[in-house]
Order: sequence, then structure tokens, then C-alpha cells
Amino acid sequence: MKKYIFVTGGVCSSLGKGLASASIGALLEGHGIKVCMVKIDPYLNVDAGTMSPYQHGEVYVTDDGAETDLDLGNYYRFTSSPVGLKNTITTGQIYQEVIRKEREGKYLGRTVQMIPHITDEIKRRIVAATNENEAKVTIIEVGGTVGDLESVPFLEASRQFVNDMGKENVLFIHLTLVPLVAGEELKTKPTQHSVKELREIGIQPDILLCRGPEELTEEMKKKISLFTNVEKRSVFSAYDVDTTVYEIPLIYREQGLHLNVMEKLGLTPEKPQMAAWEKFIRTFHNSKTTVRIGMLGKYLNLTDSYKSINEALFHGAIANGARVEIVKIDSEEIEEGKKLEEAFKDIDGILIPGGFGKRGIEGMLTGARYAREKRIPCLGICLGMQIMVIEYARNVAGLKGANSTEFNPETVAPVVSLLEEQMDVKEYGGTMRLGRSESHLKDGTKIREAYGSPMIFERHRHRYEVSVRYRDVLEEAGLMVSGVTPGNSLVESVQWPDHPWSTGVQFHPEFTSKPTAPNPLFAAFIKASLAGRKKEK
Ligand code: GLN
Repeated sequence: MKKYIFVTGGVCSSLGKGLASASIGALLEGHGIKVCMVKIDPYLNVDAGTMSPYQHGEVYVTDDGAETDLDLGNYYRFTSSPVGLKNTITTGQIYQEVIRKEREGKYLGRTVQMIPHITDEIKRRIVAATNENEAKVTIIEVGGTVGDLESVPFLEASRQFVNDMGKENVLFIHLTLVPLVAGEELKTKPTQHSVKELREIGIQPDILLCRGPEELTEEMKKKISLFTNVEKRSVFSAYDVDTTVYEIPLIYREQGLHLNVMEKLGLTPEKPQMAAWEKFIRTFHNSKTTVRIGMLGKYLNLTDSYKSINEALFHGAIANGARVEIVKIDSEEIEEGKKLEEAFKDIDGILIPGGFGKRGIEGMLTGARYAREKRIPCLGICLGMQIMVIEYARNVAGLKGANSTEFNPETVAPVVSLLEEQMDVKEYGGTMRLGRSESHLKDGTKIREAYGSPMIFERHRHRYEVSVRYRDVLEEAGLMVSGVTPGNSLVESVQWPDHPWSTGVQFHPEFTSKPTAPNPLFAAFIKASLAGRKKEK
């Protein structure tokens, strides 16, 4: 029988439900139990593709091209659960599907209602995700906060799961807040209230994870237990710790959370296998060097806009026995005249991330030129690669005014443009290239050396491409095309000539990096950044 764990959140948002769910997944997997992770987002958007990274953090792209919430990135980094279209459920998708069936007459004239039609569709999707792979346990993170109007249908569906699947196969874990008030006393009242709210809709949590600045005393646990009907030994303290998020599974393990979960679900833990994870944490604690990476972009006020890049840099640094400090370099400040020497002071490597729209582009171009001329290691991702190409076209290939048609549709030299604008390749259209695809890497290039393989698979999310019409001119001027799509039709990666380490990639290598398996390109970029610094000294 398959097992289901629902993770809900109470009191307020941003308590780290995604990380808690992912950590439980990591722990179960570390004890030989295959997991499947599912994220429920109660918003009406069908997917996160159209949502601004300002508001919602990055859009995480999966192999199958789903544009999802960044929590799927956490699942990918913490577990080996598949992450794809099936692992994300939004209110928008549920309603779209139910309304589609209604229009097709599938409900045979019945009144279509929240219960059972919406809740059935929710349950159907959870079961479909579970059946897709051999997972023993499916962990479903219910987004939002208990008490939000929009989460109600999802909570109702999870309540029904107990009836459908049997109590012994369904577990409710509730993450709540135990705040410190007036800097003195931990308060349990918000937790009592949010559990009360859950119980009102028929859900009795089995386990409580209490977030707070301090570890709960036995006395506090007793009090919480008394008011919530959760046995005291199942009240866990998720206190703030000054370490990496990757230590959370180990902190939970120390408290025996995984044993508690497995016991309740009637699962027998296998011998723990978390050596790679533990090694990552050990290296983190032992690392003494810090590499400083300048991230030249926009949207920088919200750290989560580049979540996967931050994580991949961190993984790449640890792979080199170092820590990373990410220095935000606002490209708009460069446009406003900020001195480059000042902006790039003590920077070991430059990363130009992905993005959309015209804002801040000229500042990125100025910064890219600086990195090229000053021989600073540089990694350009998606938009970042396009910037490297435009800069090279303007300042080396002599194509004055070169640009992407995304930023200037009238440019005299559209070195980056939509495929449909590039005459000879018509079949693609102006749609987004999304998801996993193949790239062929050329021998003797930095990217080929990094991956150690002539063929790789990475995920894409972009509309524009380096123009096939300008490729020759750029290559003649020295720009190295280091990777291409099968058949050599499109540029997948570039490299500057006579430069210690540079690579621009049209895909997003950050989405496939894990602490225990850092993305090779990030590891190579960090290695080059560290090497450059050592040489200077
Ligand atoms: N805006 C660019 C394009 O659509 C780059 C996209 C990105 O960086 N993800 O091609």
C-alpha cells in the first residue's frame, strides 16, 4: 500500500514548508524508502510561467518543460523524486481540467461542484503523480497557510484521503511558528490556534514541527501537546540554526523525526545511507576559503529570484572545498555611472544570469566587456550568454549597434533574435524553448572540459537564439562556439578567445545542481575563479 504525507503550514507563510518537506523526503530516502514529492499551489495561475520573479521568486524549469514553483527545485536538490508537470498542482490546473470535462459533457448532466468534483480531481492528480513512479511514500506540500480561503479545497481533499486510503497510510505533518515575544518568552498560542483551525476542517495533525528562534523545552512541548492532541513525542522543534539548509535533514534526524514518521506509517527503516550528504556538511564546516562571485543582473532586491543559481554556486564552491559569497552587482547602477573598478572590487568571478526585458541590459554589456578585457572568469547563463555575444559583436567583431531584437527590434545587427526572424529556420516559431534537450560540445573547450563529455542534457527556457546569420561573422572575429544543438543548427554555448575561463550557455545548468552532485559547469567556474585569485596573490 502506498503512503501519503501531507505537509501543511500554519500561522504565517515563509516558515520553510518546502525545505521541511524536502528534508523529510531526504531522510526517508536516506533510509531506503523511495519518495515522490508533490507541490500544491493554491493560486489560480495555471503555472508559474507567467509569474514575476519579483513577487514569487524564480520559475523552476523541469526536464519535461514545466514552469514551476521554486519548491520543486528544493525537491530536486534534496531527493531523487522526479520533478515535472505531474509533481505540481495549482488551483488553475484543477479548475481548467474540471471545466474542460464539464464542457465535454463528461459529468452527464450532473451539477458540477467543489465537492466531489474539484476534490476528486485533486485526489486524482496526487494519485497519478504517485503511480508515475515506484514511490512508496508521496509527500504532498500544501502551499499557503491553513485558514486561507484558497487552500480549503486542497485540505478537504487531503482529509478525504484518510477515508480513501486508510488512516494507517496517511500522515499529517503541520509546520507552525512558536515566536519569541518581547525577546523573552516563546509563545504557543499561535500554534494552538492553527491546529484548532485544522481540526475544525476535520484534520488532526499527527506530527508538529515548531519553527522558532529557540529549541522547545520539554515543558513547552507538554503544553503544545495538551492543547493540540498531538502526543508530546511527536512535537518537534525546528529551531533556527546558523548553518546551511542542507543540514536540516540531519537536525531532524538527530531528533528522530524520520523514525517517528516511519513508525506511524508502518515502514521499516533500512540501514541509513547518507554518507554523501554528511560529507557535504562536513566540507561546509571545514571550508576556510571564500570565493567572491559578482552576480551582474537585475531583480536583485529579492534573493529568491535566482534561487537555483545561488544554490548551484554554493554546491560548486563546496566541491572546491570553499564557501561562496555572492556579491550583487546591479547592472542599472552601472548604467547610472557607477565605476566598474568599484563595482567589481575583490570579485573573483562574474556570473551574468538569465532574465527577460530591456531593463539593465546596457549595464550588463558594460560589465561583460570589463570581465572579458580584465580576464575575470565569467559564466553567462541564457540571457547572460546572449549578453556575451552582443558585447563581442559590438566591441570585437565591429558590428556597431548589435543587439537582440528583444531589446531593440530595429537593430542594424540582430545577432540574437527569434528563430522566425532568422529566415532559414522557420519551423520553430516564436514560442519558448522549454525543458531538457541535448547539446554537443566541442573538444578543447572549457565547457567540454568541465562536463568531461561530448554530449550533455540541460534545461532551456528562452525564446531568442544567437542568429544563424551572424554566426560566421562572430566566429571569424574569434568568438568560439563551444556547444551546439544536434545537427549543428543552433548555438548552445560560447567562449571568449584568449581568456582564462569564460563560458556562456543558452541553457540553465543551475536547475540540475545538487549538493551531492554539483553541476560540473558551476564547479569549473568556481575552480577557475579561485585559481585566478591565487595567481594574483
Ligand atoms: N530573454 C531571453 C530569451 O527569451 C533570455 C531568457 C532567459 O534568460 N531565461 O531568449
